[in-house]
Amino acid sequence: MRLLNLDGRLQVSTPSGLVDVAAASRGHFSGSPQEVYDRWEEFVAWYEKNKSVLAPTDTGDIDPARLGAPSPRPLQVFAVGLNYADHAAESGVARPEAPVIFTKFASAISGPVTTVPLPAGSVDWEVELVVVIGRGGRDIPTSDAWNAVAGLSVGQDLSERRRQMSGPLPQFSLAKSHRGFAPIGPALVTIDELDDPDDLELGATINGEVVQRGRTSQMIFSVPELVSHLSETVELCPGDVLFTGTPAGVGVGRTPPRFLGSGDVLRSYVDGIGELVQTFTSSDQARPV
Ligand code: ZN
Repeated sequence: MRLLNLDGRLQVSTPSGLVDVAAASRGHFSGSPQEVYDRWEEFVAWYEKNKSVLAPTDTGDIDPARLGAPSPRPLQVFAVGLNYADHAAESGVARPEAPVIFTKFASAISGPVTTVPLPAGSVDWEVELVVVIGRGGRDIPTSDAWNAVAGLSVGQDLSERRRQMSGPLPQFSLAKSHRGFAPIGPALVTIDELDDPDDLELGATINGEVVQRGRTSQMIFSVPELVSHLSETVELCPGDVLFTGTPAGVGVGRTPPRFLGSGDVLRSYVDGIGELVQTFTSSDQARPV
């Protein structure tokens, strides 16, 4: 199943068009892209039972700028640092022994196609596979972790490096939470849609130039390992978002370093899921994201 947040309404994207969940279920499901995760397994069962008789109400030919994030206001957002060995190496740090966890504050989340104002400092790119939690829970064993997940999406962990790296201790969470710094989308794709959810190509281009390309099978800690690890400490809640780390090719790891400038167009993709498009502007000419 491919789920979209279109103008704040939950849609199932099918080969013949979009099914509006609130209308198709006659209000049994609210159609809120956020609330669906609270009843995730009930929703999946309803869709599987009824999909053959649900008529699309839209052709599906839509302006991607109308799309919101598939989990627009999660209770918790987790992000993982240094989860690809080649990215740890370009960052000049040792391969971590356990997942390095921080947050991106939820107000940074946006839809997949946006204009992002550049704050003062040095803004860098990090394409990432994003996990959205379905059932969630505590103490989830690795062997059961995919069952706790609703699906996968594409994310950009935009990062302002000057604040992130300066001061007596790093400021990962704040430096990665400026307006529009957590675009997610274009769809929430369930695991059954993917040939191998543990081995997906992901990458990014700037103005058409390839800057990152990797595979999620190169993660130091896999999605099941991350879900299990987090759930040993926190309760994973329906709709929670997990940014799983970025492969090599970020700007700060280059010689000389390279950062995003006004007018740059950043495209980020995960094969089988889709693409994000961010256009950057100087703060004084930014439109709302
Ligand atoms: Zn990251």
